[in-house]
Amino acid sequence: MSLPLDDLYREIILDHYKRPRNRGELDPHTVRAEGNNPLCGDEIQVDVRLADGKIEAIAFQGRGCSISQASASMMTEAVKDQDLKDVAELVDIFKRMMHGEDVDLDELGDIEALEGVQKFPVRIKCALLAWTTLEQALDEAAEETP
Ligand code: ZN
Repeated sequence: MSLPLDDLYREIILDHYKRPRNRGELDPHTVRAEGNNPLCGDEIQVDVRLADGKIEAIAFQGRGCSISQASASMMTEAVKDQDLKDVAELVDIFKRMMHGEDVDLDELGDIEALEGVQKFPVRIKCALLAWTTLEQALDEAAEETP
């Protein structure tokens, strides 16, 4: 797959795809969620360990296109050690960016590399998959610990 993305951004995405961060399973974990994007065949599993209102540890595994897997790798790096409140905000910013809204990119770090993906509607779901799967995991965790 080749996208006419900016070269630097393409490099960041490929780097995360080839050398994914926080890949694997987490044992023990607080919650595990699975998500898939049937349009492209992407699959993601996210394990999260929560402590003191923070994401203490996170890991993912999955398969699919470079965008989906790179986005998952970037997501884990961005939310690790973050307060759940900040994580919710980051997920919100990312989703709005993917839907073409103007967002403050300063907070996003490497994730900004995915901004160009929003020009390719068929790929937006690929980029969002890890994030919606994380959201699902955190929702489940919140239900279990009132
Ligand atoms: Zn995909």
